[in-house]
Amino acid sequence: MADRSLRGTGLGSKSFEDESGVEFAARQEVGYDCPRQHHFSLVFSAEADIPALWECPRCGAESLRSDGERPEAKEEKPVRTHWDMLRERRSIAELEDLLAERLTLLRSGELTGAATFARTAPTRAKKTA
Ligand SMILES: [Zn+2]
Repeated sequence: MADRSLRGTGLGSKSFEDESGVEFAARQEVGYDCPRQHHFSLVFSAEADIPALWECPRCGAESLRSDGERPEAKEEKPVRTHWDMLRERRSIAELEDLLAERLTLLRSGELTGAATFARTAPTRAKKTA
């Protein structure tokens, strides 16, 4: 028979047969949660340095490990805006008072035009002080 000339089993047969005897490297499964509630898990080698962040396979968002390990390098440091800094020094009530004060001055004609503003601008005032 022509089939007898087929010798295709030679290469693959061993790996199929031996699978039960193969010792797999130690693994660990690590779960991740993305901000959009997608949960997924990845298998890493036991010795692997498990990343704290992984891109969500569904939406591509940065996902944090479910076990709560937070990235070390990327410390959550919110950017302070000028408004944040202002709010650290002044309460809303104080700011409203200041605004009312400035508006009163403006309406009374004491604050007029760019020239007046330039003279009272904080950057200029600091240099002369
Ligand atoms: Zn997602």
